[in-house]
Amino acid sequence: MKRIYFDHSATTAVDADVAKLMLEYMTEKFGNPSSIHSFGREVRKAVDEARGHVADLIGANANEIFFTSGGTEADNIALKGVAFANRKKGNHIITTAIEHHAILHTCEYLEKQGFSITYLPVDENARVRIEDVRNAITDKTILISVMFANNEVGTLQPIKEIGEIAKEKGIYFHTDAVQAVGSYPINVKELNIDLLTLSGHKFHGPKGIGALYARRGVRLEAQQQGGGQERSIRPGTENVPGIIGLGKAAEIAKRDLEKKIAHISALRDKLMAGIQAKIPDIKLNGHPTLRMPGNVNFSFRFVEGESLLLNLDLKGIAASSGSACTSGSLDPSHVLLAMGLTHEVAHGSLRISLGRGNTEEEIDYCLTVLPEIIERLRSMSPLSNSSTMAENNPCSHCHKH
Ligand SMILES: *Cc1c(COP(=O)(O)O)cnc(C)c1O
Repeated sequence: MKRIYFDHSATTAVDADVAKLMLEYMTEKFGNPSSIHSFGREVRKAVDEARGHVADLIGANANEIFFTSGGTEADNIALKGVAFANRKKGNHIITTAIEHHAILHTCEYLEKQGFSITYLPVDENARVRIEDVRNAITDKTILISVMFANNEVGTLQPIKEIGEIAKEKGIYFHTDAVQAVGSYPINVKELNIDLLTLSGHKFHGPKGIGALYARRGVRLEAQQQGGGQERSIRPGTENVPGIIGLGKAAEIAKRDLEKKIAHISALRDKLMAGIQAKIPDIKLNGHPTLRMPGNVNFSFRFVEGESLLLNLDLKGIAASSGSACTSGSLDPSHVLLAMGLTHEVAHGSLRISLGRGNTEEEIDYCLTVLPEIIERLRSMSPLSNSSTMAENNPCSHCHKH
């Protein structure tokens, strides 16, 4: 059976040209970039070029890019690095309720260290309200961290407006742009972004490599100590194959960005319209227009996300759900709950995240298979037999009832 990959928000395949280049930097060009001999120098040059490609992709300068082990580490360095370096100025940080756990759990850690965190709510489309950002600012606020695009529902945040407010108030602005970099145009200078997180494996680079952009002049405290690499912000011998791979992925992403967005958003629009036409009793999650080009997220009433995923998988389709049961937790997504969904509706969510390799035939196949699965699951569901879907009906799954 042909398998269809619809889970590009979770990870993507490494581009063949990226993999080829990486191999070269494991076997032949294996030098340590800190070495002064020719083996080291050729690698140093390549690392610097990769830094340039990553900077180009987001409109930064090369000396503002720090390689990390991925998005999670870059988020940690951004938050803790700014918090500990600017503690004398204040201890207040503003973020949102719908961030990735790399941000939320780091914020919880910082709370234990004496920082005070405001978690902004979002509207029913998962957008932060600008007035809420303004109202949350105090004279102790040192950092605002708002994600560029949400990983579950794809909603884009008002980044430019937040950047303007932060600049006007002299507060650092960080954005976790892991979902957007390589799939959406970003220019950190135009958007007044001081710090930005990106990750290789979300845009056809390798896993275990990412970068933090920190505008020149941002006060940042290193979160680990060592040999001084990455200007001591992230010491340790560089992950050279990863860096080279990330650089190549960034170069390819920049070259193909417009084409990629046009292709993916056309598929998304077809898929969304098809689902809406063929399946009753559904709810679109996320903003109807201000969303990532490849993100489709619906809740199907009277259906459990994990059953849906398993049934799609049997038909060869790999997707994802806002119900985290598969990862061992039975609680529904904090993002969907923050948007005001009931546990039950949150449990019936399906995320399809499209990528550059997906085709119209795959969308057509999905539009044949998905309605059949939904109909079958609903016919078996005890929930759909009751005519009312009680808003607070305890679902069979959650711990928290
Ligand atoms: C994937 C992801 C991360 C984590 O990145 P890793 O490189 O996997 O550590 C952080 N934030 C968002 C929004 C993500 O989608």
